[in-house]
Amino acid sequence: MEIKKGIGVSPGVAICKARVLDAEEFNIPQRHVKPERVAEEAARLHQALEDSLRERTALRDRAAMRLGTETAKIFDFHLAMLSDPSLVGKFEETLAREQVTAEYAVASVMRAYAKDFLAMPEYFAERVKDVYDVERLILRHLIGQTRESLTKLTEDVVVLAHDLTPSQTANLDRAHIRGMATDAGGRTSHTAIVARALGIPAVVGLNDLTASVNDGDLVIIDGNRGVVIVNPDEEAIDQHRQFGQRLAAFEQSLEVLRDLPAVTLDGHEVTLLGNIEFPSEAASVLARGGSGIGLYRTEFLYLGSETEPTEEDHYQAYSRVLEEMQGRPVCIRTLDLGADKYTQARSPIPERNPFLGLRSIRFCLQHLEMFKTQLRGILRASLKGNASIMFPLVTTVMELRQAKMLIRDVMEDLEEEGVEVPGDVPVGIMVEVPAAALQVNQFAEEVDFFSIGTNDLIQYTLAVDRGNERVAPLFTGAHPAVLHLIKDIIRAGQRHDVGVSLCGEMGSDPEFTLLLLGMGLRTFSIAPPAVPEIKKLIRSVTMEHARQVARRVMTFDSDKQIVSYLRDQIRQVLPEAY
Ligand code: PEP
Ligand code: MG
Repeated sequence: MEIKKGIGVSPGVAICKARVLDAEEFNIPQRHVKPERVAEEAARLHQALEDSLRERTALRDRAAMRLGTETAKIFDFHLAMLSDPSLVGKFEETLAREQVTAEYAVASVMRAYAKDFLAMPEYFAERVKDVYDVERLILRHLIGQTRESLTKLTEDVVVLAHDLTPSQTANLDRAHIRGMATDAGGRTSHTAIVARALGIPAVVGLNDLTASVNDGDLVIIDGNRGVVIVNPDEEAIDQHRQFGQRLAAFEQSLEVLRDLPAVTLDGHEVTLLGNIEFPSEAASVLARGGSGIGLYRTEFLYLGSETEPTEEDHYQAYSRVLEEMQGRPVCIRTLDLGADKYTQARSPIPERNPFLGLRSIRFCLQHLEMFKTQLRGILRASLKGNASIMFPLVTTVMELRQAKMLIRDVMEDLEEEGVEVPGDVPVGIMVEVPAAALQVNQFAEEVDFFSIGTNDLIQYTLAVDRGNERVAPLFTGAHPAVLHLIKDIIRAGQRHDVGVSLCGEMGSDPEFTLLLLGMGLRTFSIAPPAVPEIKKLIRSVTMEHARQVARRVMTFDSDKQIVSYLRDQIRQVLPEAY
């Protein structure tokens, strides 16, 4: 039994068999398979070799056509390696002798092969780059097979990976995924957000977890304590089963709250909305007692498919959500991508500093046709319910003006085409960059609402990468600088009569509920599974108490002090739960 500590990002306990997803850019760890699985690994290996050979032959032929047969000969060396019986024989031998994954067999044989080349005279030593290239090619095909299999599972599993990109997460077969754990990642990485939305336990930032797990090993994922146990003993299984049952019972006890309002003991009403990534999640917002959608992350429409969504794809997705919500508010955020495969594929050079790069609204304003296609879809669908449009990562008022002008352009185009359009759709921005937070009074003149994106606001205020496990302890909403910005945004909203909600993950964390209420926040948009718990808290406090807490917190100068004070407060309010 091996116990690994990471960052618990989605509560609950999963006890299930593991599926491990390797990453070709990182060292492939030695991972064993059961003797009966060796033949299956050999079949995967041969499939990957065949696919690699086909891909490289096509590349060689294309190069021959464009660059001449002499240049294309570089690839003949790759083709020779891929079909070299002695090399393939070594892969097979390693598989059978060591009973390891095909990935490890390829990586270890190719590494030894590369060493042999390096020991040769200069001409051969140069070719070691080709050996690495072929290794990566075969690994890409092998890992691609696993990734593909995770989209159509036949049994329940927990997925363990070095990291999961947003598109990988979007494509997982959600019906069979019981939990997730990754070596990389922080509290607000996409894996964390999706796991929370799906209500499955998840732990990230485990560093070298995947090196110690074999496919099929039994694993416990404890999302509350941020622990993963590999090959647990009977006692650990029993303990966690009981803990899981207690959590489930607590959750069940909250079900009675579903149709009750989120109102404090002294009568102050609060609106609890849900964050969603996929149209199918709209139902879970209602099932948990949310009263609308405060953040629909539409980028998952782009990530879930190989091709850019059409206007019809947009229209269908938004219509479905709006219809499902039957007149309740639905805030549709326009595409918020950057540095992922999707936007990189459209950029000639990968970005070195993607979080400060061509992200979100900046990307949209440089890809106007794509942006207009989405806006057309939103505007057409908005007739089906109570929609609003929100722009992400707005940093300057000019960006907001440009984006609003595009809405007007699209509206005019639709009208000219005789398509029915709404009279008016409320438009707002995410306040998630310190520049926007500091200029919030100016923005307030030009928007209908603000939504505070604490995930990015914390990242940009504290200069802490939200997805980097190495700096994860520094990522906190309790930093006084972040709290001052949040307070100022709420105040500006009150002063200008502009609605303010908070849709970052901080809103789903019960530790912050009292503080945020006391600061004047009246609309929370949170992960749907968090709605009952936050509602319970709101119904257990008075606004007077919340205001006292906020006043006290603003006198502290360290996040540690703030967190420990907030923990004390929440324990006083609900001693049975915390
Ligand atoms: C945020 O930044 O707080 C937010 C809600 O947006 P995302 O997590 O999608 O960047
Ligand atoms: Mg954001």
